Amino acid sequence: MADVLIEQLIRAAALAVIRDADELTALDAAIGDGDHGINMKRGFDAVLADVANLSAKPWPDFLKGVGTMLVMKVGGASGPLYGTLFMALGKDLPMEPGRDDLIRAFRSAIVAVQARGKSERGQKTMLDVLIPVAEALEAGRAEIGAITLAAHAAADATIPMKAVRGRASFLSERSIGHMDPGARSSALMIEAIGKVLEKA
Ligand code: ADP
Ligand code: MG
Repeated sequence: MADVLIEQLIRAAALAVIRDADELTALDAAIGDGDHGINMKRGFDAVLADVANLSAKPWPDFLKGVGTMLVMKVGGASGPLYGTLFMALGKDLPMEPGRDDLIRAFRSAIVAVQARGKSERGQKTMLDVLIPVAEALEAGRAEIGAITLAAHAAADATIPMKAVRGRASFLSERSIGHMDPGARSSALMIEAIGKVLEKA
């Protein structure tokens, strides 16, 4: 059976994006097609509806199940990308992971997202939050509050960037001056996960 903690982490991440769906949609309305919050809410509502069933599985399978659900339900560009992130985490984690296993799996899940999105850091996407967080973890920064702050600072740092991937890239220079919605959703999930870990 999946660990109780991992189920709590998934629930918290889901509730955070559902809570702030309107904000994510507003960010996407400025530089995309105004559906990021709607997409994420649809996907994570489906995850929450199935979480008890999913968490009956060993937890690598649980994470793969979450990823598959996101691919099926979120849609847009972000569905396959977040789906890949969770599926790859499930694939790369051993049954009883320690901290180093988690950090390694997070990095290889990011590499899988990059391969899927043909994208890299600096292109005004979710990767501009995920990669700095992975780097902070790899550098041994263990303090959860600092990781959360780093995630939000990284999302803020997408504001002056010009989008090179995704719909926002159609706007070219006009994408400058707005936060990337996927960067914001990543930061929200990292904050939510951090809050659960602080109490664990
Ligand atoms: P869509 O753009 O298809 O409407 P969403 O609005 O749900 O999908 O998601 C948009 C977000 O997806 C962007 O804000 C960005 O963070 C992320 N994104 C889009 N394309 C890529 C990519 N190639 N690599 C990484 N992230 C991407
Ligand atoms: Mg969109």
